[in-house]
Amino acid sequence: ANVKDTLTEQLREWDRNYFMHPTSSVRAHQEHGPSHIFTKGEGIYLTDINGKTYIDGLSSLWNVNLGHGRKDLAEAARNQLETLPFTSSFNNFSNEPAIRVSKKIAEITPGDLNVTFFTSGGSESNESAFKIIREYWKLKGQPERTNIISLQKGYHGVTLGATRATGMDNFNTFGTSFAPGFLQATPYLTECEKGDTTHPNYASSIRGMIEKEGPEKIAAVMMEPIQGAGGLNVPPKGYLQAVRALCDEFGIFLIADEIICGFGRTGKMFGVENEGIVPDFMTVAKGITSGYVPLGAVIMRESFRDELASLTDGILFHGFTYSGHPTSCAVALKTLEVLEKENIVSHVKEMEIVVKNGFASLIERHPHVTNDRCVGLLSAFDVFKEPETNTPFQPAEFAAQILSKECEDRGLIIRPVMYKGANTIVFAPPLVSTKAEIEEAFAIFSDALTAFEKRIQ
Ligand code: PLP
Repeated sequence: ANVKDTLTEQLREWDRNYFMHPTSSVRAHQEHGPSHIFTKGEGIYLTDINGKTYIDGLSSLWNVNLGHGRKDLAEAARNQLETLPFTSSFNNFSNEPAIRVSKKIAEITPGDLNVTFFTSGGSESNESAFKIIREYWKLKGQPERTNIISLQKGYHGVTLGATRATGMDNFNTFGTSFAPGFLQATPYLTECEKGDTTHPNYASSIRGMIEKEGPEKIAAVMMEPIQGAGGLNVPPKGYLQAVRALCDEFGIFLIADEIICGFGRTGKMFGVENEGIVPDFMTVAKGITSGYVPLGAVIMRESFRDELASLTDGILFHGFTYSGHPTSCAVALKTLEVLEKENIVSHVKEMEIVVKNGFASLIERHPHVTNDRCVGLLSAFDVFKEPETNTPFQPAEFAAQILSKECEDRGLIIRPVMYKGANTIVFAPPLVSTKAEIEEAFAIFSDALTAFEKRIQ
């Protein structure tokens, strides 16, 4: 064996021995070791330790939105690391990158969503939103107002509260995630949310749940503008507006989980802008730093912060060591500058057409492809045994995994949805992907589907 093979084998063995992977099969890891070891990223491409190159068709975890290997983001991090790598934001200590990026966020968010509370990631952002909102209601003399309503198939993270807000059983049953005060509604019952109480599914709608529990017990409604991990589910037109109106009717806060959708992913700066609504809170993470360093945030209305300040002169007993991390904030600031300077959001809107055309030609040539959906560069399709009759492969998730593997073998990493029974393939490449690069991905999809069709027969 040459030196490189020996090194690779050594790393694989150490990985198997010492590294437990998130959201992965523990047994497969013990049997086979890591599935890839990546050593380099450049633009939309990743290179593994064997020198094989892949298109990063999920922007890693829907976060490396500006692509890999950008010198400007590296330089922003390096400058900050050399000047002031870290300092605390507790006790009203502050630092320039955190101040500047808060102001920038206020400029690009809709409405009066002008105040930012920083965290280290998405789960922490959602958890923070729940706690700050519950504290608010307590201070308002409504301590019973604790329940959070979210949607089935929604994904909000893995801390206890965020897990319970997540509407996917496999996450909830893992470790038996107890946390009281969370309810899940059936998604996209627009008519119910508008007030149709005669609908057969009314009881499981958000409105039905508010009525059953009593509005005085509901603190907030949380949802993704487009559901990501739960299968790339796009709400029907008018749904978010109906939920906004419903929350207004009962004085309940609306939290938009923009952790995937935020910062240009859907061809708008924020996902809620596709429906022209302003939520009371937005939680963000991932794309805020293009994934280069960890950062998350809860963005709230100025009027909410003002009211909170008037309700209490006590301390906000909530905050993370890394809330307002100078280096993370410096990278976020540069990321937001690049988004603007390079007109990334309008580029995404143009690339949406390329993806839609790609899906159209896949559907024409490949009999199992169906249900294509695409908003900006957030897209997916399903593979069904018989699309005409909605007959899934048995079991559906294996079919999605087989297709995913065929794509990987040909140099395209995509995400088969990991939810049970799901037959969905998600494609969400970096926002800087060019037309030629997206077409390259679709050529691979087509070859992979041809191989898949032979295997699945
Ligand atoms: N919310 C959404 C919509 C997400 O997609 C994710 C992560 O995938 C999270 C929350 C959790 O974020 P994190 O993994 O940074 O805690």
